[in-house]
Amino acid sequence: MPDFALNPESPERKRASSASSEREIVPPARAADAAQVEPEAAAEDPSERRGRRLWKKKDMPGGLWLKCESCGQMIYRKELEEKGRVCPACDFHFTLPGRERVRMVLDEASFQERFAELTALDRLHFNDSVPYADKIQRSVQKVGQNEALICGTGTVEGRPVVLAVLDFSFMGGSMGEVVGEKIALACDLARKEGRPLVVFTSSGGARMHEGMLSLMQMAKTSAALASLNEAGGLSICVLTNPTTGGVTASFASVCDITLAEPGALIGFAGPRVIASTIKQELPPGFQRAEFLLEKGQIDRIVRRRDLRATLAALIDFGVGSRGAARG
Ligand SMILES: [Zn+2]
Repeated sequence: MPDFALNPESPERKRASSASSEREIVPPARAADAAQVEPEAAAEDPSERRGRRLWKKKDMPGGLWLKCESCGQMIYRKELEEKGRVCPACDFHFTLPGRERVRMVLDEASFQERFAELTALDRLHFNDSVPYADKIQRSVQKVGQNEALICGTGTVEGRPVVLAVLDFSFMGGSMGEVVGEKIALACDLARKEGRPLVVFTSSGGARMHEGMLSLMQMAKTSAALASLNEAGGLSICVLTNPTTGGVTASFASVCDITLAEPGALIGFAGPRVIASTIKQELPPGFQRAEFLLEKGQIDRIVRRRDLRATLAALIDFGVGSRGAARG
């Protein structure tokens, strides 16, 4: 029997005690702490903190209406969906579920999913309020996929790409071993097939339930992208709301071209944590896409409706100037 059996009754799991120190060392936990006082900093596992949802059930009579997390405007849900989940009042770009993102970015029926069978290993038999293995199982059932990263091949306006999409609805889009492995596999695939790699991120950061193993994915994904780069491959990352912690600090920041959606929260630790650590007031718009564009961390802010055309133009430009990757 492998040590990653998802059996909640296993004696190891019962013995496992809650590790009190992990919140001190893992960045996403800090981001999550900040989110307690700043609800728009949604860098947390949505399944864990229902009490602090971005909008509450009572704000959505009959589920037809919801409140914009940016401007507070009540929005008709159908209108929001018709506009690609962009607030009609303030243009805030809501977090998209992974599958919806894939549908939105790729040409119809062009997506061929790869590596979907990979599942998380609970090597540490981690247990806080709920055993990690149970959380994974719950997320698998809820979201209908094995992990937080959706990966595969497809075309954007006829141009072949390898696409990797982090899905915030699966444990806050957190990066554990499987997400790291799938990013590395996506880089390999892009190199072997000579396709540009397009990555979409929305994440609370490294998955604290996997401890050090999740932090090691930062080095692994960065190295995989470096190999793709050395082989002449093109990589484009689109940062969406929210992208935080170890994901920002690794593959999200080292692609050839870094795009972001308007208003996206992008950072490492949460703003409140930073403000209290450095004991200084933070500038307005801190950690928002527009602020980071001004500072040079991202190359361009792209509205959702312009994304496909922008990606297609960048792919033509990038592949044309560098030549397709050679395996
Ligand atoms: Zn709004």
